[in-house]
Amino acid sequence: MWKAPPPAAGDNRQTRMGIVMDRHGSAIFVGDAPGLDFLNSIATPADSTIDWIDSGEGLLDWLSQAHLVPAEALKAIRAQALPGELDRVADQARTLREWFRGFVRKHKGRPLRLERLSELEPLNRLLERDQMFGRIVAQRKAEPLPLALQAMRHWRSPQALLLPVGEALARFVCTEDFSLVKACEGPVCTLLFADHTRGRARRWCSMALCGNRAKQAAHRRRLKAQQH
Ligand SMILES: [Zn+2]
Repeated sequence: MWKAPPPAAGDNRQTRMGIVMDRHGSAIFVGDAPGLDFLNSIATPADSTIDWIDSGEGLLDWLSQAHLVPAEALKAIRAQALPGELDRVADQARTLREWFRGFVRKHKGRPLRLERLSELEPLNRLLERDQMFGRIVAQRKAEPLPLALQAMRHWRSPQALLLPVGEALARFVCTEDFSLVKACEGPVCTLLFADHTRGRARRWCSMALCGNRAKQAAHRRRLKAQQH
C-alpha cells in the first residue's frame, strides 16, 4: 500500500545504491499490477500533481522503486549517459505511459477482445527491440534442484530502460482480466488498479488516500443531515 512520502530533508536529495534520488520520495504502488503502477507514476495524492517520471533522474528513481531494473544496471546507465540523454528517455517513457493510459481507460471494465490486438502495435514495436537472454544461476529458494534459469537483459543504452516497462505492459494486456481494471472512485483521483479482492468490491486506490476521505465526507453529510 502507498505510504506518504517522507518529509522533505535539507536539500531534498538523498542517495540510495549510489543513485541520486529524485525529490518526489516514495512512488505509488497500489495498482496490483506493474503495468498499472506505471500509469500511476503520475498522480495527485494531495493538492498538487506529482510526476515521478518528470526527468531522467525521476525515471531512474521510479524504475528502482518499481524493481524493474537491477540497481547495478541503473548505476551503469546513469554513469554512461550523455548529457540530456536520460531526460529524452523519460520523455519517451511519458509518451508511452499516456498512450497506454488511453488504451486502458478505453477498454477497462470489460474483457479485452482479440480485435484490440492491432491497437497494441506500438507496444509490439517496443518489444521487438528487447535484448533478453537466459542465464543458469544457483537456485535461491529452497527448491529440490540446485539450478535455475534466470531471464536477463542487455543494458546497452539508456533506451533499454523502456524495455522492462514494455514487458510489464505486455504482460498486463496478456494476463490481466480487463473487467477487473478499475479507476479509483475518489472525485479527483486518477489512480487505476486491478481489483483482485475476493468480492470484487474494491473502490479506492487505498484507504489511506481516497477511502478515508470518502468516509469523512459521508460522515460530514450525515452530521449535516442531523442538524436540519
Ligand atoms: Zn484514489
